[in-house]
Amino acid sequence: MIRSSLALRLTLWYGAVFTLSSLLAFAVVYLLMASIVQQRTDDDLEGDIEEFAALLESEGLESVLDELMAESQAEDAGQVYVRLWDGGDKLVFSSNLESWSGLEGGQHTPGIVGDEVRLNTLSVPGRDHKARVIRGPIGLNLTLEIGESLADDEIFLGKVLKGFVVTLLVMIPSGGVVGWFMARRALSGVQRLTHTAGRIAAGALEQRVIVGPRGDEIDQLAQTFNTMLDRIEALIIGMREMTDNLAHDLRSPLGRIRASAETLMHGSDAHTEVGTLALETTGECDRLLEIINTTLDIAEAESGAARLNLTAVDLAALIVDAADLFQPVAESKHVCIDVDLPPDCIINGDLQRLQRVVANLLDNALKYTAPDGRVGIHLTDRGERIELVVEDSGIGMSAEELSRIFERFYRCDRSRTQAGNGLGLSLALAFVRAHGGEIKVESTPETGSRFTVLLGRAG
Ligand code: ADP
Repeated sequence: MIRSSLALRLTLWYGAVFTLSSLLAFAVVYLLMASIVQQRTDDDLEGDIEEFAALLESEGLESVLDELMAESQAEDAGQVYVRLWDGGDKLVFSSNLESWSGLEGGQHTPGIVGDEVRLNTLSVPGRDHKARVIRGPIGLNLTLEIGESLADDEIFLGKVLKGFVVTLLVMIPSGGVVGWFMARRALSGVQRLTHTAGRIAAGALEQRVIVGPRGDEIDQLAQTFNTMLDRIEALIIGMREMTDNLAHDLRSPLGRIRASAETLMHGSDAHTEVGTLALETTGECDRLLEIINTTLDIAEAESGAARLNLTAVDLAALIVDAADLFQPVAESKHVCIDVDLPPDCIINGDLQRLQRVVANLLDNALKYTAPDGRVGIHLTDRGERIELVVEDSGIGMSAEELSRIFERFYRCDRSRTQAGNGLGLSLALAFVRAHGGEIKVESTPETGSRFTVLLGRAG
């Protein structure tokens, strides 16, 4: 579920891109700063070489040596060293190299550099920080070497790096949170659509998605979705009207055929072929008329045209009567009908229609329960509502079958050996809804089913 969440995937992508681009931006800034800092140090060192060259030219070697002496005794002397070499690689002057003792054993090779100025960075054994060293000619075949500790630069760049890391550690999780929030916000419209589509799939075809005011892609999708639903609903209503009209138009001719067959049946010997055919025709006409009448009853109840004949109905008494009516069927299958009823269960309802609801549920429970099974029918007072439960230990239904049993003419494959026309539950649902109630069903294959009808006391 989480892995397939688009919001999560978008957040991860956003987080990855955000982290990489922040790292890249920080790396560029850091390298730029490091190069500026080094350039500044190099400029200083080159300036020093130029200054000493000028001093040598104007005031001679003595002054240069004095100046070198003064520099090597200055406050930050531990951070800088100077050496002066003559053309024969002989050391003319050296500052105190006590804290630079590693120089001699290191990669550093002293010597004359000719006319060029050379700059390099050294790791001096025994020192915590690297040093930047310049060697350049200052005239009279003399080469001046100045080494400067990079402690300040490295400490500065270390602080910058630490600052970047801390900023990244704060930015990346907050970037993730912002990304998650943005992804959820962008996908909330899709969730709205999914939610509505789910309710429509469960049968609420009149549902529509709320179209937001922004007119963005999601709103356009919602709009298109609603237009599609309008068309589907119009088609379904059209088809239902057609079936209802057809049923209506068939009822009269079918009634006349039945009447003729009945006349023929009465006028002929039951053992003749004509008598048998007349009997079969009457039976088939009865079956068709029942389907037609039930279809019309459903259509009437669903369209809201059904006028409920509301009276005070004692549900407990109604159930006792129904259980009595079905007792012979139950006994023939060795199925026990278990009845549990509270004393006061009066609701305002249409007696005949409620009788048909209970009869259909009880009929199904008995039909789809194997011999020696159990059927229970209970009423529970839930205050404003009464809960009627019909449960059985029968064949049960799969989740896919459950989602379709209230459709007109739908029958589960395994039930086809039983008598029925697939209209009983559609009729029950239409009548219960006409009373402002609802029907819920739970079922497990091979274990049993449980139908729950909730009816308001007010009817
Ligand atoms: P039918 O006339 O076929 O019983 P219904 O509309 O009453 O038509 O029921 C529709 C289908 O739902 C049935 O064909 C059956 O497959 C299934 N069904 C209904 N009630 C039960 C039940 N109690 N146990 C198992 N299946 C049931």
